[in-house]
Amino acid sequence: MRDDRIAPFKGVFTQQEALEDSAIQAAIDVLQSGRLHRYNTVGSELSEAALLEQDYAAYQGSRYCLALASGGYAMQTALRALGVGSGVKVMTNAFTLSPVPGAIAAVHGETVLVECTEDLVIDIEDLEAKITASGSRILLLSLMRGHLPDMDRLTRFCCEAGVTLIEDCAHTMGASWNGTKSGKFGIAGCFSTQTYKHINSGEGGLLTSDNEAFMARAILLSGSYMLYERHGAAPGPEAFAQVRFETPNCSGRMDNLRAAVLRPQIAGLDRNIARWNARYRSLEAGLTRSNQLVLRKRPAEEHFVGSSIQFRIPDINANQVSAFVEKAKTLGVELKWFGDDNPVAFTSNHTSWRYMPSQSLPKTDQVLRGLFDMRVPLTFSEEDCTQIAEIIVHCAGEFSPAQ
Ligand SMILES: *Cc1c(COP(=O)(O)O)cnc(C)c1O
Repeated sequence: MRDDRIAPFKGVFTQQEALEDSAIQAAIDVLQSGRLHRYNTVGSELSEAALLEQDYAAYQGSRYCLALASGGYAMQTALRALGVGSGVKVMTNAFTLSPVPGAIAAVHGETVLVECTEDLVIDIEDLEAKITASGSRILLLSLMRGHLPDMDRLTRFCCEAGVTLIEDCAHTMGASWNGTKSGKFGIAGCFSTQTYKHINSGEGGLLTSDNEAFMARAILLSGSYMLYERHGAAPGPEAFAQVRFETPNCSGRMDNLRAAVLRPQIAGLDRNIARWNARYRSLEAGLTRSNQLVLRKRPAEEHFVGSSIQFRIPDINANQVSAFVEKAKTLGVELKWFGDDNPVAFTSNHTSWRYMPSQSLPKTDQVLRGLFDMRVPLTFSEEDCTQIAEIIVHCAGEFSPAQ
């Protein structure tokens, strides 16, 4: 179906920028050295993986950092390091990506889903209800699509309720709330360096913490053999004295090749965040011209990373959703819809995670039914974003919302 009233967008939603020459050169250096394994070092040299841990700990302002195989693995490692095992209940957001409940399942924990608000953040009232109902004292807070709740209120609440907080920062690397970096509010922050996140090594994960005993266990769990002294941002050897006999090696390290390409990207992260946010603001300005589309008003305390954008069409029905998404697609704009009970590629919702008991989440379901999501790769220009917003507004104008 062609639409001649508006020009289609030609960009590719899954196309990232090329890595910078410095990252490519760093990769070549590692390949030429032949020392790709993080513990394959000469003399007292620190491996690229250890240097990455230092660089990221410095960026984050954390005492400790551990490089891992993926963001999902960082969450699994955090849960294991807290002793989560068979039947232990872990709360997380109902609106999240599948590796989050997957991490809880990997350690044989039981996922307790918490409702999300129209602002796409965790619903603290429901969190309170779930703590009471389930008895859970662990929250794996997913900062899905980079939306931060009132982190001051949430951390105060968790502290008073005796809830240990782990942050899933897959979409908040570089973000902060009231000047405190996302990932610094609980015992641990879990980050992903998968291609579609804020720094790109294909796959990869980072786990940060200020807690010595927690990080010593996490390092051993990551598969450090007994080479924990070769880590870049780790507790001293005394922290390992006892736990090294008690902690399994659940092999999931990062290699030097990925670490080498990530280090120059950390140096460029804040610059890229500004570029993402300029694109986000172009999209936001365009989308808010339609009064059918509802965007979150970003709180002043939130320094976010606009690597994706979400909007709601609250009263849209299922037929209108298909027509809308299809229409946008014919005009070159790829929208994801989180209301679909049939999981599609990266997009799924709790009703399709049938390995866990089904849970009633009417509020989240209501939000997801009208929620659309779009990636914003840096290969798009600000002008591209303006054009994309025009297309979306045009497509939304094709139907009138239910009364
Ligand atoms: C991508 C992602 C993760 C984990 O990512 P990996 O693919 O395992 O590196 C965790 N949480 C959210 C919300 C994500 O989008």
